[in-house]
Amino acid sequence: MKQGEERKLVYSIKDRCRVCYTCVRECPVKAIQIKDGQAIVIQERCIACGNCTRVCRQGAKAYMESVDEVNLLLESNARVIALVAPSFIAEFEELTDPRVFVGMVRALGFDEVYEVAFGADMVAREYEKLYKERPKRGYISSDCPAIVSYVEKYYPKLIGDLSPIVSPMVATARFLRHRYGNEFRLVFIGPCIAKKEESNEVDAVITFAELRNMLRIQRIRPTNTTQGEFNAPRGMKGTAFPISRGMLQTLNMDGDQLEREVIVAEGRINFQDAIKEYRSHDIENMHLELLCCEGCTMGPGTTRDGKKFVRRASVIRYLNNKLNSEDHEFWQESMDEAKAINLRQSFKMDDQRKKDPSNNEIRKVLQSMGKYTPQDHLDCGACGYDTCRNHAIAIIKGLAEIEMCLPYSIDKLHNTVNKLAVSNDKLLSVQQALKQTEKLAHMGQLSAGIAHELNNPLGVVIMYSNILLDEVEGESPLKEDLDLIVKQAERCKNIVGGLLNFARKNQVRHQEIDLKKMLELSISSIIVPGGIHLEIDDRLNNSWAELDQEQMIQVISNLVKNAVEAMEQGDIRVIAEDTDDQVTITVSDTGKGINEEELDKIFEPFYTTKGIGMGTGLGLATAYGIVKMHKGQIEVQSNADPLKGDTGTSFIIQVPRHPKISNV
Ligand code: SF4
Ligand code: SF4
Ligand code: SF4
Repeated sequence: MKQGEERKLVYSIKDRCRVCYTCVRECPVKAIQIKDGQAIVIQERCIACGNCTRVCRQGAKAYMESVDEVNLLLESNARVIALVAPSFIAEFEELTDPRVFVGMVRALGFDEVYEVAFGADMVAREYEKLYKERPKRGYISSDCPAIVSYVEKYYPKLIGDLSPIVSPMVATARFLRHRYGNEFRLVFIGPCIAKKEESNEVDAVITFAELRNMLRIQRIRPTNTTQGEFNAPRGMKGTAFPISRGMLQTLNMDGDQLEREVIVAEGRINFQDAIKEYRSHDIENMHLELLCCEGCTMGPGTTRDGKKFVRRASVIRYLNNKLNSEDHEFWQESMDEAKAINLRQSFKMDDQRKKDPSNNEIRKVLQSMGKYTPQDHLDCGACGYDTCRNHAIAIIKGLAEIEMCLPYSIDKLHNTVNKLAVSNDKLLSVQQALKQTEKLAHMGQLSAGIAHELNNPLGVVIMYSNILLDEVEGESPLKEDLDLIVKQAERCKNIVGGLLNFARKNQVRHQEIDLKKMLELSISSIIVPGGIHLEIDDRLNNSWAELDQEQMIQVISNLVKNAVEAMEQGDIRVIAEDTDDQVTITVSDTGKGINEEELDKIFEPFYTTKGIGMGTGLGLATAYGIVKMHKGQIEVQSNADPLKGDTGTSFIIQVPRHPKISNV
């Protein structure tokens, strides 16, 4: 016995679904919900039309199989009778003689094989009776169980309009019980999934696809089968039942009258439209002959890829043969016998309608999908719903998710990709900055070591050369040499000082300073050529800060001097800004800019782009060290490519306003 999902009439096979929404689109009653990345059938809403099982290319939708149940019956001692739907001839159109089919079914172990077409003849006569009883009354046909289920669930107020007549399957079952009592078990074989839950007057239902499977497993083929006739009574005009308008052909009524009073609609859209128009009284007093699929010859329990018109032609051929060959007298006797059988039935409501949301609720959901104007409503159907509005309604009813909207999901994906690209860029620049900081830290260690080693001997050289200079008298030729030694030794001392600054080994003497004054002092001693305009842009809210004034002047004047030396004309701006805790000073020029490959190296000691003898290459390294000693940050932004925009360079220094605050 099957368990779990497989006991549900139509169910989803876990993890096969690739959420293409095809089944959502094809489900006439929207009984499919997208949940946890899977399309799930909501059992109570499903009418078992079987559309989803046919359209899913992933094989993620299946219907309950009853082969095991039927095998158990066949293995038991019970007399088991097969009731075969009239569409069998369409499904097995490859068999040249229907008697081969009957022989194959018997070979499975069925004791008798009856045609449900006889039940269709009985039902047709009952319909004629109904028309005559209530000539001006419209009805909705009740022979398609999916249509009956549709009305019970979604148009419960129309239950009284369903024809109160049983289906040909039930009519045949009642006939056999009337004639032979109850000492047998009945198995219906047909093209329909919904039949499995139509009635408890048959013991089991299998589809033609399941029947083929049983035949295959038991290796029953036309070539190893003894042919046989269907048990009598056999069907006559009822054989036409499975084809569109087949029921009409079965009725013994005036053709013109039928044309005037019967509307035939098949397929998931047409049958719904017909019921809608019937309900709104657009079609009055008409009988609706409705099929949920494209006729029983193409039902969801038939094998796929069958040719619709070839199948139809098989039914017509079979019907014509029967009309010419059957024993009409015997058939009429059986039909007379069947007059005593009650073929009426009633229906019960199973209201599955959900309250329609208000326009306001719908608008809100549409807006959350980025649909504000009518132009935003693409109605592309990619979500499985015909319109954006219907999708929004389904979301409110808990049947759908916003993410099912393709344009919405694509937009969201684009935004995520863009955000990722930005994060990636940020990550890259942080990574580069980290590498740079690490490299400079190593260089700082090295510089500190060298500076310490040089500092003491240099002090001795300076001291003794000064003593010697003092001792040299008059115009001694040694005086000039000693002067040179002192000057060069002093130069070396400056370099060592610069290295110690870079290595952050000098002392920072924090003192309260006026930033504006400090900036003015920084540029006061710089000679600015005529073509260059230098200005301070003071945007400070508070000019007070605790910094080492001497060191900060060294930093700013170094940067400004570099800018002046690197350009013949243009603007240099020293911009001062602040927050409560932080001071930002930007030295910005409109010069040629620094090449990208040089940007990584400019804070390294002794790296210079100036000519030989034009600088020690310690200016920026010193600035870097001083800013770091102030627990601040210094960074450079530059563009040397005119194609990318204005060229120029900006050094941005950020230091805490107070030494206790750190932004490192
Ligand atoms: S048709 Fe339905 S069940 Fe099949 S893959 Fe698409 S969404 Fe999933
Ligand atoms: S069987 Fe029909 S009604 Fe049920 S879920 Fe599938 S498509 Fe929808
Ligand atoms: S735009 Fe979105 S909500 Fe509208 S129909 Fe297309 S997929 Fe569905």
